[in-house]
Amino acid sequence: MATFRIGGATIDAVAEGHRTFWSPRDLLPDAAPEVIGLHREWLEPHSVDPAGGALITTHRSYLVRAGGLVILVDTCIGNDKERPLRPNWHRRKWPWMDNLRARGVEPEDIDVVLCTHLHTDHVGWNTQLRDGRWVPTFPNARYLFHQTEYDYWLARHTAEDWLRDAFIDSVLPVVEAGRAVMVAGDHEIADGLWLEPAPGHTPGAVCLNLHDGDGRAVFCGDLMHHPIQVPAPHWSSVFCSDPDLSRRTRTAFVERHADTGTMVLPAHFAKDGGGYIEGAGPGGSTVFRFAS
Ligand SMILES: [Zn+2]
Repeated sequence: MATFRIGGATIDAVAEGHRTFWSPRDLLPDAAPEVIGLHREWLEPHSVDPAGGALITTHRSYLVRAGGLVILVDTCIGNDKERPLRPNWHRRKWPWMDNLRARGVEPEDIDVVLCTHLHTDHVGWNTQLRDGRWVPTFPNARYLFHQTEYDYWLARHTAEDWLRDAFIDSVLPVVEAGRAVMVAGDHEIADGLWLEPAPGHTPGAVCLNLHDGDGRAVFCGDLMHHPIQVPAPHWSSVFCSDPDLSRRTRTAFVERHADTGTMVLPAHFAKDGGGYIEGAGPGGSTVFRFAS
């Protein structure tokens, strides 16, 4: 599992322990095989399957020690969750908690939980099953929910939607236990740690920025699902609630962070997690790629 140092801060990737292989257009409906082909050299073998050309993703959280705080960014799918419409996520027993403890922290040590958005694979470990009830996994943490995102899911969680279950078993119990803090999209957690709106994938999706000394990092959740979206930022995922807005947000993000030395940490990239957006192509052209 990868560890990154950003100034005086440390970032540990916490994997849930599985990978998903996608036919490219099942994940990115606009994906063009010839464009993927241009980038296979740096995408294989971690992010594109050399054998069949499938796009590979994974699920991970990030454990951040910065500003005197222990922060958990995104909480994956979770254990024991009832997900009958997603059989491979249904009543699972992933090794996620073992992987967290291997980083030297107990659930009681987490000060802040930040979900970049409230999709089912980013809120799972917010809660765990105790005596038949869903209770907050991190008893001393304040869970930060962007008010816009929370309101969006609150209004629609009773609709027939496979995403509603997660709101009911992994978000509402946190609110009922008094551990939730509703925040604005530009909320400052501490000096050098602040949120930034990144709408499109969901209406209230946020990034978390970290500046520590000369080090810079940004946790961007599902702003990108796969590194092919760095050279092709106009390809939104099948899971984006507003693909056009997602495209604009992602394109601006890629252009802004290219060649700045800012570590970019998405939730689903299969290789290591963090890396850098590079923009310099041959002959002075701009061909973005993700270096990790
Ligand atoms: Zn996700």
